[in-house]
Amino acid sequence: KVVCVIGGSGFIASWIVNLLLQRGYTVRATLRDPSNPKKVDHLLKLHGAKERLQIFKADLLKDGSFDSAIDGCDGVFHTASPVSYFNDPQAELLDPAVKGTLNVLQSCVKSPSVKRVVLTSSISAVLYADRPLTPNAVVDETWFSVADSCSKLERWYSLSKTLAEDEAWKFAKKNGIDMVSILPSRVAGPLLQPEVNESVKPILSLINGAPFPNRVFGWVNVKDVAIAHIQAYEIPTASGRYLIVERVMHVSELVRILRNLYPSLQINDECEDDKPFVATYQVSKEKAESLGIEFTPLEVTLKETVECFREKNIL
Ligand code: NDP
Repeated sequence: KVVCVIGGSGFIASWIVNLLLQRGYTVRATLRDPSNPKKVDHLLKLHGAKERLQIFKADLLKDGSFDSAIDGCDGVFHTASPVSYFNDPQAELLDPAVKGTLNVLQSCVKSPSVKRVVLTSSISAVLYADRPLTPNAVVDETWFSVADSCSKLERWYSLSKTLAEDEAWKFAKKNGIDMVSILPSRVAGPLLQPEVNESVKPILSLINGAPFPNRVFGWVNVKDVAIAHIQAYEIPTASGRYLIVERVMHVSELVRILRNLYPSLQINDECEDDKPFVATYQVSKEKAESLGIEFTPLEVTLKETVECFREKNIL
């Protein structure tokens, strides 16, 4: 079967492409800039790429840009979305996330071959639901972030993911698209691409001795996130949203695990502030497990991340 991965060179997407090739698919990967070796070389080196990987140039904000890549595909994985910005959240985050998602879905409507679309959303589209995040709270897929709450808190990335997923569901319903969304927490693990990803950078900065922030995050292995995308496409009964989170913890706990794993590294056990630690919460794994996901323990994910830094001579 032929499938398309939108934003194929990213951290998560590269693993999706890798696992799809391993499962025998013909994969079309869309990239903003296929002439950039940092974005494309690691994909071309994957096992099976020579025979079954096709690279397409496409831009989220150019109407019809995805038509040729998507036409004839059975499944589409839409992973492309900006994860950071410099000056203007509207132009740099919100427009590519929301308009880009609708642009991709428009191309899916035009191609009758497309049976299912898997959208990469985020736990950010869940957590700002105006519900208390306390140690007893169990966050699940019925929670939807409230756009106004993201705006008030100036969480522009979370707003971009919230609006993009919301608009995607409305569009999919109206146009009869079979869509499933995947909602990972912070993703870590081995990087296939040469550059260090935004979600892995905080681990690098802890290893480099920075004090830890007084914050709570969920973590998950990049390979588990990629498998979740593929299972969500392959399993006919998969539907709705899937939170993909192995463990939620305060960063102080992450520091404790890293210090235990790597006693020789100079990992700082001081917090950035002296306020009481932010409370943790729980995230339901029920739906993820129904997709057959067996979560990699965070300790293994952290080891894989650090080993990858070593292989890339970053440490
Ligand atoms: P990457 O930065 O590695 O990948 C982001 C992808 O989006 C790249 O392919 C990038 O293309 C593309 N992209 C970004 N901005 C634009 C733009 N303006 N126009 C076109 N393409 C763009 O990040 P991840 O792999 O981590 O993220 C992939 C998806 O997963 C995103 O949707 C993100 O929101 C989501 N996610 C990530 C989490 C994480 O912790 N990593 C957690 C939860 C969700 P290019 O390579 O050309 O820059």
